[in-house]
Amino acid sequence: MLTTVSARPRDGAIPARKRMQQAVFGLGCLVLGSTAFAAGGEWRSHGYDDAGTRFSPLTQITPDNAKELGLAWSYDLHSSRGVEATPLVVDGVMYVTAAWSIVHAIDVRTGKKRWEYDPKVPPEAGRKACCDAVNRGVAYHEGMVYVASLDGRLIALDAGTGQKRWEQDTLEAAAKDAATITGAPRVFKGKVIIGNGGSELGLRGYITAYDAKTGKQAWRFYTVPGDPSKPFENAAMEMAAKTWDPSGKYWEAGGGGTVWNSMVYDPELDLMYIGVGNGAPWAHLARSPGGGDNLFLSSIVALRPDTGEYVWHYQETPGDNWDYTATQDIILTDLELDGKKRKVLLHAPKNGFFFVVDRTNGEFISAKNFVDVNWATGYDKAGRPIENPEARRTDKPVEVIPSVFGAHNWHSMSYSPQTGLAYFPAQYVPVTLQDDKSWSGPRDNKPGQPMSGVGWNTAKLVNAEAPKAPAYGRLLAWDPVAQKEVWRQEYVSPWNGGTLATAGNVVFQGTADARFIAYDARDGKKLWDTATGSGVIAAPITYEVDGEQYVSVAVGWGGVYGQYTRGSDFKSPGTVYTFKLGGTAPMPEQVAYQLGNLVQGVPYDPADVAEGTLLYVSNCVFCHGVPGVDKGGNLPNLGYSPAAVIGNLETYVFNGPLVSRGMPDFTGKLTSDDVRKIRAFILGTADAVRPKQ
Ligand code: CA
Repeated sequence: MLTTVSARPRDGAIPARKRMQQAVFGLGCLVLGSTAFAAGGEWRSHGYDDAGTRFSPLTQITPDNAKELGLAWSYDLHSSRGVEATPLVVDGVMYVTAAWSIVHAIDVRTGKKRWEYDPKVPPEAGRKACCDAVNRGVAYHEGMVYVASLDGRLIALDAGTGQKRWEQDTLEAAAKDAATITGAPRVFKGKVIIGNGGSELGLRGYITAYDAKTGKQAWRFYTVPGDPSKPFENAAMEMAAKTWDPSGKYWEAGGGGTVWNSMVYDPELDLMYIGVGNGAPWAHLARSPGGGDNLFLSSIVALRPDTGEYVWHYQETPGDNWDYTATQDIILTDLELDGKKRKVLLHAPKNGFFFVVDRTNGEFISAKNFVDVNWATGYDKAGRPIENPEARRTDKPVEVIPSVFGAHNWHSMSYSPQTGLAYFPAQYVPVTLQDDKSWSGPRDNKPGQPMSGVGWNTAKLVNAEAPKAPAYGRLLAWDPVAQKEVWRQEYVSPWNGGTLATAGNVVFQGTADARFIAYDARDGKKLWDTATGSGVIAAPITYEVDGEQYVSVAVGWGGVYGQYTRGSDFKSPGTVYTFKLGGTAPMPEQVAYQLGNLVQGVPYDPADVAEGTLLYVSNCVFCHGVPGVDKGGNLPNLGYSPAAVIGNLETYVFNGPLVSRGMPDFTGKLTSDDVRKIRAFILGTADAVRPKQ
């Protein structure tokens, strides 16, 4: 049922074929009894369908007419942080989330608000979030909308009114200090399923299923073993524990393996597939000193959706050492391989290899690097990477490629069965890694260590060796059968948006440099583009209302990379843009970043700069970047802050006026002395980079 839209290459008979596709999709609904299984003209679940294809059967917009696209309406999300949401469209209503997990319901005919729901996330939850106060969207099921809030609650809303029907706290006690939720829930077989993120702060990964109607917990599946002195939860955990070295007391840091993004479902096999995250801590030997594969980190795991029972796994990065999550979008499709039709899943995780895996049993079929990598040279026939030993050295800093930002991160992938191509953004963000010899635990927040307790020193400022390879961002069209790139588009920056593919043979994508673009899916020819208010990181959707095809994208620069740097000069508020052929609404004005002058005129003691550097790196750099060097993303670069702010830094650091907007309160974490030194570092760096007269 998953590939019923797999049509021959496009020909002239569009209306008849479109009717057929809609009929086939309609049948899918009847047979499966699952409303999450998409009807053709809507966008009812996160990845369009349960298979996560992000391939719409709509054909009104084509390579021939895409240049006639124009704005139908825009909608202000009243949000200044990153927007990562894929909107849903059901029965003429769009459900989309902004930062801080706020849900907006919009009438797609008018672009006007139906309702808004604010889960009132406590701002201190922002401190736990490694990667901005983002949210990737909602699930819809039988008149209910489900959102998971940054602070870990799963909330069911009435789709008509936005009134809360039920709420569950999904965080177990051990996860409270570390976990946040940024992902979209999914509904499979009447159960709402949600995981969380936060391995960087140390926790044990799990996902939980709740009854969609009542919110009652149905099951929980842990992705890594717990304390071996206690009984294993199931046979899968007993098996997984054999791949960890207990002398490292891995359960104390939790082990990691959070499921913060991808979940898909094959109703025919009755299997759901989850993408499991990196280890906690990142450093393999800090976690498991004797080595071992550390199941189920960086793996795809197949489960029974009724019970959460383990069925099979395939581990893409055994003994993860580099934050190589496998949480990127999984897509289910059928491919003809060596003359045989195979039920497969497609996956392009952070580690830079494109995987084709048999989804009936987890058997490895093929893997090929989709960007230049240096941690491995390839995969052997059994599906194990052939590693470069350099990537695990601990005696000096190493620039491991891909970096912790991933060759492909959460930015959504799409797959067109018509072209046989997968479309996804690939990138490199330079980072060197250095073994943290004195790692002592997940909250080990030492001066000079920007990510507390991951076991690697990722310092941009204190590393002896700066990374050498240049940053890049590009769109790839990848043939999973031949395992090769078919076309690409190069961009000015990493961190570009997710993709959408259509049966009209158009691929849509937004970019870090604040554009929204349509390409010919077959050869990558650019068909149309328009400026957007700020850099785009989320994925677009398409749907049909009253006989017209619309394309919508939620825009708002941010996320882990966009917090401290930017791909464009524009910083407009979060906005949903909706386009159609012949649309004539005026585009909202772009708002340029106001980059002030380098800060000066505040006295400081240069003797404080060295210690201030280490403190800044530990506490500030991941959100605010390097003063006067980075330009600031959706959070300000402090090198350009007004003298009145830097001169009164304590006012902002200790329970200051920005706490209500997500600025952490450093009371108890930093002293007044520390703040004085941080201030000296900011001012000293500004002085150092200021052009000499
Ligand atoms: Ca991670």
